[in-house]
Amino acid sequence: MKKVLIIGAGGVGSVVAQKCAANTEVFGEICLASRTVSKCENIARLIDRPIQTASLDADNTKEVVELINKFKPDMVINVALPYQDLSIMDACLETGVHYLDTANYEKPAEAKFCYKWQWDYRERFKEKGIMALLGSGFDPGVTNIFCAYAAKHYFDEIHTIDIMDCNAGSHGKAFATNFNPEINIREITQRGKYWEEGKWHETDPLSRHKTFNFPEIGEREMYLMYHEELESLVKNIKGLKRIRFWMTFGEEYLTHLRVLENVGMTRIDSVAYDGKNIVPLKFLKALLPEPSSLGENYTGKTNIGCMMKGTSGGEDKEIYIYNVCDHAKCYSEVKSQAISYTTGVPAMIGAALMMRGIWTAQGVFNVEEFDPDPFMKELNKHGLPWTVKTIK
Ligand code: NDP
Repeated sequence: MKKVLIIGAGGVGSVVAQKCAANTEVFGEICLASRTVSKCENIARLIDRPIQTASLDADNTKEVVELINKFKPDMVINVALPYQDLSIMDACLETGVHYLDTANYEKPAEAKFCYKWQWDYRERFKEKGIMALLGSGFDPGVTNIFCAYAAKHYFDEIHTIDIMDCNAGSHGKAFATNFNPEINIREITQRGKYWEEGKWHETDPLSRHKTFNFPEIGEREMYLMYHEELESLVKNIKGLKRIRFWMTFGEEYLTHLRVLENVGMTRIDSVAYDGKNIVPLKFLKALLPEPSSLGENYTGKTNIGCMMKGTSGGEDKEIYIYNVCDHAKCYSEVKSQAISYTTGVPAMIGAALMMRGIWTAQGVFNVEEFDPDPFMKELNKHGLPWTVKTIK
């Protein structure tokens, strides 16, 4: 039985803790640590076996090292914020413990995410004989695995990939984000970017959109965005000619976002106010509902998948691999909404495959670098069943 330290007690951390606790074949002792320890304790109360909790500032590597030395986990699952990725990776290096996360590093002062900072740890993790698995959520995460699975079983070559993320759920609030508001708004307000014929192309934020008929949901308007899995899939899926990422947004969400941007509430620089310096986006985050609080009355479904075109046996081929997740069902299982659920379940699965020695290597890896089959099997078993729809 393996010992796991989970860092971050938000919407995703709650699902990871509950799903690890339920997977008694793999995970023995669990410690859930976060900045606000009362949130860890609230999550612990949802779990029907004892787990440990701890207060931790994960920006401080020394504190993370101390907790690792005290609890002695086999691995760390980082579901705090992307800002903590490097300080936690440093602590894993110092203590020789495996690492997993769901979002790539970004600096607080610049709304830009990229894998370079974490890929730069490859040699050091290899020398230490430990593994880091990056981006084991849904997107990134399951979407990367859908691509690897299609490359292995359906295509000789994949030429185009469109990753499509549709949340057709309703939480009943005028404006809320389904994962950490600060990280979410930084991502959505960035310039769009996609890769075609060996080059990156930029677009104005949310300027390119089209309608798609999502299975089990219907037609929704989706907007081209830059998303982190594009960076690793361009390197790891051979023969690719184009890859894009799309996300659906409702009119009400977009109107709120536009107003917040126009009045400066999404700024990430510091503004002098009443004798103090405040960052408007951080202040906005303090006003918005926490992602973990949205589950109770959430209705509707998500559909997230990959539309892929390419060739198989000399013929053109097109498939859509997707998962549909129901917000209310997630709430009845783990008291969370579907976005936390679709992120937390793959984090637990990635960790379980590492701990069972099924996905094992030394260095820093993205999920699509491993055999997708065991992961796909576990998705069906742990609440995220998938469908392959043949278009051509
Ligand atoms: P939340 O805001 O709900 O939770 C984040 C948690 O991290 C909070 O409990 C917060 O503590 C804690 N935290 C923040 N800073 C620190 C710190 N310095 N030390 C210790 N704990 C800290 O966010 P979510 O649960 O929605 O998201 C968690 C992560 O999952 C994010 O990185 C997000 O980008 C990622 N994600 C990935 C997805 C994917 O598909 N790959 C999809 C959705 C999310 P406090 O409560 O005190 O603020």
